[in-house]
Amino acid sequence: MCATPAGQPREHHVPERTCVVCRARRPQSEFVRLTRVEGHWQEQTVNRTGRGAYVCSDSPNCWQDKRLRRAFGPQAPDVAALLVRRFQTTQTNQPMTD
Ligand SMILES: [Zn+2]
Repeated sequence: MCATPAGQPREHHVPERTCVVCRARRPQSEFVRLTRVEGHWQEQTVNRTGRGAYVCSDSPNCWQDKRLRRAFGPQAPDVAALLVRRFQTTQTNQPMTD
């Protein structure tokens, strides 16, 4: 017989990441991924492996340079500015759709 049951779609395995600031575990899509390029932290938009740091993309509490300092050290203010600027850009460009 070839009547193979289609089977229930299984839950997608969503890879979880941990915020370097608040330690929350969430799906990767809810984070901003930062990577260090030539000594400077910047947002990583290209999907590739490597060393990265994840920060909640929707949580201003995680964007305070004081809290970022543990993960980013002296570059924390730069990272904070990047996250805030990114958020403002997202806000003006599009509504909350995905
Ligand atoms: Zn966080």
